[in-house]
Amino acid sequence: MITINENYLKLQASYLFSNIAKRVTAFQEANPEKEIIRLGIGDVTRALPAACITAFHKAIDEMGADTSFRGYGPEQGYDFLREAIARNDFQARGAEINADEIFISDGAKCDTGNIQELFTQDIKVAIPDPVYPVYLDTNVMAGRTGNFSDGRYQGLVYLDSTKANNYVPALPTEDVDLIYLCFPNNPTGSTITKEELSQWVQYAKEKKALILFDAAYEAFIRDESLPHSIFEIDGAREVAIEFRSYSKSAGFTGTRCAYTVVPKECMAFDSKGNAQPLHPLWNRRHCTKFNGVSYPVQRAAEAIYSADGQAQTKELIASYMRNADLIRQEMAGLGYDFVGGKNAPYIWIDAKGDSWEFFDMLLNKAGVVCTPGAGFGKCGEGYIRLSAFNSYANVEKAMARLREMLK
Ligand SMILES: *Cc1c(COP(=O)(O)O)cnc(C)c1O
Repeated sequence: MITINENYLKLQASYLFSNIAKRVTAFQEANPEKEIIRLGIGDVTRALPAACITAFHKAIDEMGADTSFRGYGPEQGYDFLREAIARNDFQARGAEINADEIFISDGAKCDTGNIQELFTQDIKVAIPDPVYPVYLDTNVMAGRTGNFSDGRYQGLVYLDSTKANNYVPALPTEDVDLIYLCFPNNPTGSTITKEELSQWVQYAKEKKALILFDAAYEAFIRDESLPHSIFEIDGAREVAIEFRSYSKSAGFTGTRCAYTVVPKECMAFDSKGNAQPLHPLWNRRHCTKFNGVSYPVQRAAEAIYSADGQAQTKELIASYMRNADLIRQEMAGLGYDFVGGKNAPYIWIDAKGDSWEFFDMLLNKAGVVCTPGAGFGKCGEGYIRLSAFNSYANVEKAMARLREMLK
């Protein structure tokens, strides 16, 4: 008899986006003439940078001739891309990362989920609240939690991110083994300072714990003092793995390219308490279960690091951040309290009441879609997330409707 992994039955159905879609459809059917403006999505809206398109086309032409055709590539990624990453994303910022510590992949989402395979089931896991739901759900699937009750899974340590701690969670009071951190943060748009991040690295060293650092939004950082990588922090090479993605930084959500950094000194422990390097384990996993990212996509990603690519991605990000600035300015003018939008494309707004009630009001009175904070965890109750991923004209229109609605 074939039996199932019952951990899947513990998963809470993703009510968030299906619930949003249902309400938006109902509104549209009742108001067919009303144009809806979506500021809820976590997906980019603008085209790929021209430099990426040129490199992409050229690589496809190479695949079309026997003399330049390429078959299976190295699972870890081509050296041309790994070297460009090490140089531009790390060494240029004073972070000691070498090309052979970088694993190219098809997504930070997959990598943050798959990495858990390297650890035993009985580790204590710490996850922020509110949170990118992937960290939570993949731990449930792996059997690292109990059942869902009272808005939370049993057995996990939740790291509350609230106004009181400026959306940077405090160190846990009980010992934990695996810690998820995401800065700049989705959904709050908050950031972490080098001093705060150093405390987490210190904690991980003391407890022999490991930090999984998701830096998917580092390209949106405008404040020069903020760390782009956890490897800008002394000692992080021993206790951290970092996830990066071109999805938001260069519009690659539909193109697929990301990478994971596993430093050679990064350790976890066997049952005898002996330190074991994680690099060879992740390498083994990657080579056995992953075929590598396609050659043309890796060439398109490499082009991000060219002079043209750098200028174009900078412009792309600046255009989204111009939207974020407008949202911040308008929400402040309307008397709302919020965080984010300065070094991240998300603005986390105190709804002064129930998340879903505010969502409904925004939809029904202004035709604007936001994301209710309650969908990201218990601590998100009473908040909404606005995203800067849209055109400036649409953001202007949405803000004008909000002003009108609140008059
Ligand atoms: C969008 C996003 C990613 C990127 O995931 P991909 O799988 O590379 O598209 C990673 N982490 C967070 C928190 C995100 O919001």
